[in-house]
Amino acid sequence: MDAQLAAEVQSTLVKARKWWHSEGATAQDQRAALAGYIRDHVAVGPAHRAENAALNYLVKHRAGTPYTLTTPTAVAITPEEISYHIGATAAALEEFADRPDRFLRELDAIISRLIMTRARQTVRVNAARIGAKYARIPEAGACYWCLMLASRGAVYESIEKAQRNSTGDSYHPHCRCSVGEVHSDALSSLPTRTRKCVQFRKKFKPTGYEGWRALVASGQFTETTGITSTTRLEAIARELKARNRAKAAEGLALAEDFKKSLSEVAAGRGGGRLVETVTRFRPGVLSGDQLRDVFASLGEVPRGPGTPIHRLFTSGEGPAPREWFDFVRHDPTRLDRLGPHRVQAGFAPVVWDDLELPETGAPEPTWENLYVNAYGKWEKRRKQWRLYGGHLVMPAPPDGANLVLTKSICPPGWTEDDLTVAAFLSLDDPQWRINGTPRHADRRVLRREMYGVIFEHAYYIREDGAGQDFAHCMPLCGDTVRATQPGAWAPFDLKALTTRDKIEWQYEHHG
Ligand SMILES: [Zn+2]
Ligand SMILES: [Zn+2]
Repeated sequence: MDAQLAAEVQSTLVKARKWWHSEGATAQDQRAALAGYIRDHVAVGPAHRAENAALNYLVKHRAGTPYTLTTPTAVAITPEEISYHIGATAAALEEFADRPDRFLRELDAIISRLIMTRARQTVRVNAARIGAKYARIPEAGACYWCLMLASRGAVYESIEKAQRNSTGDSYHPHCRCSVGEVHSDALSSLPTRTRKCVQFRKKFKPTGYEGWRALVASGQFTETTGITSTTRLEAIARELKARNRAKAAEGLALAEDFKKSLSEVAAGRGGGRLVETVTRFRPGVLSGDQLRDVFASLGEVPRGPGTPIHRLFTSGEGPAPREWFDFVRHDPTRLDRLGPHRVQAGFAPVVWDDLELPETGAPEPTWENLYVNAYGKWEKRRKQWRLYGGHLVMPAPPDGANLVLTKSICPPGWTEDDLTVAAFLSLDDPQWRINGTPRHADRRVLRREMYGVIFEHAYYIREDGAGQDFAHCMPLCGDTVRATQPGAWAPFDLKALTTRDKIEWQYEHHG
């Protein structure tokens, strides 16, 4: 029922907005037009389908119980309920006359409440008729308030109270939580998400809504129940913002540190040989005024785009990868070279179920990690040497050697430092995250988009819990990302940031 209701609400909202934008009526007409739209459109088809969804749910849910014989009946919308919602649209129109966006959000809330109420009331009234209880089923990503109310578990309601035309005092605007009929007192008869809320309440005994808010925002609730909440996500967003602000504040200092460490290396060991051209590899492109200054200060070193950084990957003489990242992350040439971002700041994945902050101590990739990730490695398996390809270049193996293709290759134009930035940025500021995949429970996966490529950064939790190991930072898709089979391309697909599908696709075909 939940998915059906969500779809019903969503399509009704889309239609309503389309209608509103094509309406273009004067202020006085708008009021009347809205009233007509609510009465003749929303309160008819969508409301009716919501009632039917609830009836179907009840019939199915009662199968195999003594209540099978009691056929649930529709609880149709009343004229009072319709006027209530029409009144709400008129009030919103007046209140947000000069804020059309705000008005439309209000209209969304009114319409979704009208539809959701139809289903909720149908369940509650029919449950009361047979003397059964009902329970709130929190929507995916429900807020702390709804989780708290769901934790009350099965509630009994008199037929009078259920029939009272509640427009949902305890259901806030935009709330898509639904209700289920509960036939027994056993905890196991509660809907899964509701049961988890009840168990959480018993275990942690949060006090009042403040207590709930704190436990949900801190991540304790999600960690315990596996249920993600927008309250938690908002807290994460705040943490990330604060962290980014702190990073920005210390950015300059890091650049200074980096300059110093480079000068020290140059003075002490290797001098101007710090940066050398390695033509076998696609050179990293280091540029930007600040960066040029650094190299200029070192004397006889190449300047401008084309400066290779391969040495940094292998010599161990350069700065730590983290310092390098902080230094090159704002390379102004990146936008020109690689094109714009495809996912705008503030993008929110549709499926939030698994988003969480990285545990503290997620592994910082080492230069060796980054090198292997970019260029691959030789490994002896079953007495045979194989060259495993990296994600930056497809190396040509010596004659007769066995090349094991890697899963995907960055688009042309991507360089070592671009890939380094992708590795750290996806770690610091993921747009999507899952803990464990069906095949690897110890795997942690972070994804984010950068310049039109969606990267996947993965690491493993060691079995003994004594740390984590970097696995890869690979381009998952992007218009010129080359996939395993030579000639195969993985076009940009936003789904990689919203669902697990793409992971399965990747591993099934590229495993
Ligand atoms: Zn809520
Ligand atoms: Zn809710």
